[in-house]
Amino acid sequence: MNSPPTVTDLARATLLHLSELGLPPSSENYAKFYAEISGEPITPKSAESAELVRMVQLLVDEVAKRTGSLVNDLGERNRDMRHSIDELSSVQEKTLIMQLLEALVAKADSIHETVADTHEDMEATRLALDHMSAELIETRQSLHEDSLTGAQNRRGMDTILLREVARAKRNQNRLVVAMMDVDHFKQVNDTYGHDVGDKLLVHLSMIAKSVMRESDALIRYGGEEFLLILPETDLQGASYVMDRLRQVIAKAPLIYDNKRIEVTLSAGLARLGEGENGHSLVLRADHALYEAKRAGRDRVVIASELPSANAR
Ligand code: GH3
Ligand code: MG
Ligand code: MG
Repeated sequence: MNSPPTVTDLARATLLHLSELGLPPSSENYAKFYAEISGEPITPKSAESAELVRMVQLLVDEVAKRTGSLVNDLGERNRDMRHSIDELSSVQEKTLIMQLLEALVAKADSIHETVADTHEDMEATRLALDHMSAELIETRQSLHEDSLTGAQNRRGMDTILLREVARAKRNQNRLVVAMMDVDHFKQVNDTYGHDVGDKLLVHLSMIAKSVMRESDALIRYGGEEFLLILPETDLQGASYVMDRLRQVIAKAPLIYDNKRIEVTLSAGLARLGEGENGHSLVLRADHALYEAKRAGRDRVVIASELPSANAR
């Protein structure tokens, strides 16, 4: 023979019924359906026991909706409930409610763990993204850089020239470029080997950077040919930079195998004319370099200035 339903069984059945009807488990609703199901009005003791089950149910619902801070809250409520349970008389009821509480705490713990795991996953993803964006910046930079000398390459030159020509026009500033080439560089390769030729190019780049300003740009235009972009500089200032560079390389040549590898430089300078673009400016500097070579090398030639728009 089945034993009669306990107060707790009745309380659970009441809650189930309420949820099937889509009604909130308020005290009024609860008392009404409890009386219907049990066939007797709710007594103080059954109300107490049922209230505990109702609280557990509410907590389970709440846990499913919320996370984190709720776990602490649950700890406190758990203690209160255990205290109330101790005051109940039926061992069976106590056991059942204790089991429900255990299940509730386990569920809260597992939700807490899931949240912690998700947080860790998100942290790892964020770190990976940071790493990837740093790599992207590096890759973008290296795309514009010559791997041997660390100077900008032709791709970098296009970007810098566009920017500096636009800036010079906007601010009515002066902009000069210098096309520079190592004289008889082939002889260095032929005499000491290609590796030493490479070292000389690195040495020259370092010296060039040391005499240039922070706002200037050094571009490796070709094999042993470099372009210097000198914003806010006039032809006199640019000549001074080139002279300094030629003096320093003469005084501090590359030393290899106890030998001084002495080289001279030729350069052509051109100043941005009114309405001129970067491409034309570089071409004029290149022609001036050609003139310097033709005139015997180891010198700087200045391209004649373009006539101003008014004079044309
Ligand atoms: P010029 O005074 O007329 O400029 O004579 P040059 O010997 O410097 O010029 P030329 O154009 O005859 O030779 C340039 C040499 O530069 C030939 C080429 O092998 C060498 N070269 C180009 N790029 C590199 C490089 O990255 N490393 C080395 N070591 N040599 C290079
Ligand atoms: Mg050369
Ligand atoms: Mg050359």
